[in-house]
Amino acid sequence: MSDCLFCKIIKGEIPSTKVYENEKVYAFRDIVPQAPEHIVIVPKTHIESANDITPENSSAVAAIYESIPHIAKTVGVDRDGYRIVNNCGKNAGQTVFHIHFHLLGGCMGGKMY
Ligand code: 5GP
Ligand code: ZN
Repeated sequence: MSDCLFCKIIKGEIPSTKVYENEKVYAFRDIVPQAPEHIVIVPKTHIESANDITPENSSAVAAIYESIPHIAKTVGVDRDGYRIVNNCGKNAGQTVFHIHFHLLGGCMGGKMY
């Protein structure tokens, strides 16, 4: 998707602070962090939202979950814990329509739900 912000970040057309990358996944620091450690994890393939996950593309989402332990360790939150958040659609406040998972860690004030 040529006009997608996260596709541009993946391609390096827009700079980002990378924390992890493999064949299927790219992870970078959120530009407006909502926690001491706030990482955005995206598949390298363009999927708009959780509504668009299918048997054909779900391996991209699995790859994200497989990358989470590495990312959590890299930013130093694996022992104390963290939250993984996916916002789907306007009522959840999704602003970038390339599926992504927020890893939120550091000093968090308990559960939010
Ligand atoms: P959403 O609100 O869709 O769940 O999450 C989108 C996230 O992308 C937001 O937390 C926002 O701060 C982050 N974001 C938006 N534009 C940029 C950018 O250009 N660079 C980085 N690193 N993060 C961005
Ligand atoms: Zn995209």
